[in-house]
Amino acid sequence: MAAHRILILGGTTEARQLAARLAGDPRYDATLSLAGRTAEPKAMPLPVRSGGFGGVDGLADYLKRENIDLLIDATHPFAIRISANAAEASARTGTPLFALRRPGWNEQPGDRWTRVPDLEAAVDALGAARRRIFLAIGRQEAHVFNRAPQHAYLVRSVDPVEPPLTVPQADYILSIGPFDEADERALLTEKRIDVVVTKNSGGEATYGKIAAARALGIEVIMVERRHPADVPAVATAEEALDRIAHLLSPAMKRGV
Ligand code: NAP
Repeated sequence: MAAHRILILGGTTEARQLAARLAGDPRYDATLSLAGRTAEPKAMPLPVRSGGFGGVDGLADYLKRENIDLLIDATHPFAIRISANAAEASARTGTPLFALRRPGWNEQPGDRWTRVPDLEAAVDALGAARRRIFLAIGRQEAHVFNRAPQHAYLVRSVDPVEPPLTVPQADYILSIGPFDEADERALLTEKRIDVVVTKNSGGEATYGKIAAARALGIEVIMVERRHPADVPAVATAEEALDRIAHLLSPAMKRGV
């Protein structure tokens, strides 16, 4: 029997984990799709395609042209547009879809979180007085903080922030996780950080800064998730494998 064709929309640790589990399984013929934003993505043991599809139309065309049996949205919880496109293209083409999305972090005793709905609100939450900010939100939207030039920024991202911020005081760290709590505590202390700004991405790889802020009594401005598209979701690669096996079982293919 021909292998089932799966398209994984990736750009996350979970997508890589799932791709690694599917690679080499003769039941499946999986491709990982990346947006192409990271200059040097990690090598993968299965086919990788890179770059946008060209909106919903482009993704729907791809699903039909490539005879995709199952679409898995394993993009970052803050990658809103591609998730909406996946839901729409799935509905249009009748391609089954589920999301692999890690749960968000929850506030723990000792945390000092200020929850905000988006990055604009995060800028407002910093206030008028000068503070030393650790900006750990990725590079794509860092420029939003140009609106608050009174603060001193330490910006960490995988690839450089281009163009750099226009604020008078900004330092940059290029680095890829995971980041452990002890190192994060040392960084926050050494740079005399007053407040951490982060998205509620969830997962362990970047939780160190949250735990470190708690230990040091530092405020965290937490950008909360918007409600994800209304598609079924699982939280781990392991659960995704179960769902794949169920959705692509011979009985389901026959519509039984
Ligand atoms: P986005 O705003 O939701 O998507 C913007 C456009 O990028 C989409 O319309 C699509 O272009 C293209 N795209 C996004 N993900 C793609 C994928 N996996 N394969 C092919 N095309 C993709 O996305 P974003 O927030 O810029 O994130 C881009 C990538 O970085 C995603 O893969 C995401 O998982 C990853 N990432 C995002 C964040 C974050 O905080 N947003 C953090 C870590 C990793 P077309 O419309 O042309 O198809």
